[in-house]
Amino acid sequence: MDSAPQAPSLPPEILTQLQQAAGPGGWTLDAHEIAPHLVEGRGLYHGTCALMVKPATTEAVAAIVRICARHRIPIVPQGGNTGLCGGGVPDGASVLLTTSRMKQLRGIDPATHTMTVEAGMVLADVQRVAAEHGLLFPLSLGAEGSCQIGGNLSTNAGGIAVLRYGNARDLVLGLEVVLPDGEILGSLKSLRKDNTGYDLKQLFIGAEGTLGIITAAVLKLFPLPRDQATGFVAVRDPQAAIELLGLARQRSGDAVTSFELINRLTLEYVLRHMPGTVDPLADPSAWYVLVEMSSSRADAGLTTALEDCLADAIERGLVTDAAIAQSEAQARAMWRLREEAPDAQKFEGGSIKHDVSVPVGKVPEFLARATNSVEAHLPGIRVTAFGHAGDGNIHYNLSQPKGADRDAYIARWAEFNRIVHDIVQDLGGSFSAEHGVGKLKIDELVHYKSPVELATMRAIKRALDPDNIMNPGKVIIP
Ligand SMILES: Cc1cc2nc3c(=O)[nH]c(=O)nc-3n(C[C@H](O)[C@H](O)[C@H](O)COP(=O)(O)OP(=O)(O)OC[C@H]3O[C@@H](n4cnc5c(N)ncnc54)[C@H](O)[C@@H]3O)c2cc1C
Repeated sequence: MDSAPQAPSLPPEILTQLQQAAGPGGWTLDAHEIAPHLVEGRGLYHGTCALMVKPATTEAVAAIVRICARHRIPIVPQGGNTGLCGGGVPDGASVLLTTSRMKQLRGIDPATHTMTVEAGMVLADVQRVAAEHGLLFPLSLGAEGSCQIGGNLSTNAGGIAVLRYGNARDLVLGLEVVLPDGEILGSLKSLRKDNTGYDLKQLFIGAEGTLGIITAAVLKLFPLPRDQATGFVAVRDPQAAIELLGLARQRSGDAVTSFELINRLTLEYVLRHMPGTVDPLADPSAWYVLVEMSSSRADAGLTTALEDCLADAIERGLVTDAAIAQSEAQARAMWRLREEAPDAQKFEGGSIKHDVSVPVGKVPEFLARATNSVEAHLPGIRVTAFGHAGDGNIHYNLSQPKGADRDAYIARWAEFNRIVHDIVQDLGGSFSAEHGVGKLKIDELVHYKSPVELATMRAIKRALDPDNIMNPGKVIIP
């Protein structure tokens, strides 16, 4: 959406101060090294910065921020740069601060199921370290091989296990943050209970770096699953999927970890474009569910529970066919069908994306109303809907009509936003379920939040960041 980057600069004396604060190996002006940090993954935004800093400690982050605060220089925190709303892309003569050198494990306590990590630890490494101690860090998403825990917390990431464990917000006990004036808000507590006024950490979780820079966190861990059952299920329609969710939760002792809805077109894109993927079922169905149950008890009998549940659901007319994974490899193959959905769409031309949530029971109504509306608005538009139906969160993506001009189609993004998001609003939902606001959805925020909500958000932003140096131009314009 933005155009090509130019490299702006800072006054030499300020540049020197920042370089000294970042320390040896803690900064770069190398355009090749900086380039991948200036573009959002889908290429929607191209940014600029005057310097990229790579501090290795919280103290170095604080020193850098203090200099920026003194000289009112915008500073943009960035983790793995996998965010999908342009939130980590800097503009103008800003300082881009990557947390990629802050990867330390500060501690893990298997007895109390907690672990303290620095912001730059890659999510997959957090999961791996927990697993090495026989524990689970349940946050899991397609970008886990490169996104960082600081970015996950800053976007309040969701993913495939929210139904069971909650989203990132629910997985944090304590937080260390560098505030926009360079003060360190050190609150790395592992308290399960702390009713001492405002829960400050929750302000920074989901703030997308607009209120401060998260440098470390105390995370909640859980027992590792010892029994798992995964099924790929053809359902009658989305309403049947929601009824199946209730049934599966009851029949499994509430062991449903993931419940992903996928429409046929999404599956067709994956089968067409992703080598090695196979349809687990003989006949096509308009809608599918990928369901996973898990338990920390090895003898939980989840495969039997899933079989019984599906047999019952077939009898009730909710399910038309199903395959249950007989091995880890089969379960992985089923998950690939879901995980490859975002990439598979790229081969089908322009895609206008919506990451929405509605109350779980309203998912069928949302899908029916939105699809009727967008198809009436642009005949030939192709709806690829998939996502975390168990959380009421659908990635409602619209591929361009076959043969349409990609750029002309993408230019209509705001038009389709209005159609889809108005329906979401009418159903009491949210225009951004898990990817955040960043730059991409600022107009939507202004459009859909109430005046009181907007005023409260602006008051918080102004109180913490009066000079608007912390990731300006993202989420909320003060
Ligand atoms: C293939 C794919 C699948 C995905 N699936 C999901 C999914 O299922 N669920 C989901 O929620 N998201 C998903 N995402 C989006 C993305 O991975 C998440 O938003 C992730 O949490 C971003 O982490 P990151 O480290 O890459 O953050 P970045 O992209 O680097 O930054 C994201 C935002 O957080 C801010 N930020 C980063 N680090 C810090 C910090 N330390 N302190 C303060 N602010 C900071 C940035 O300024 C920016 O505003 C997916 C992305 C891809 C590419």
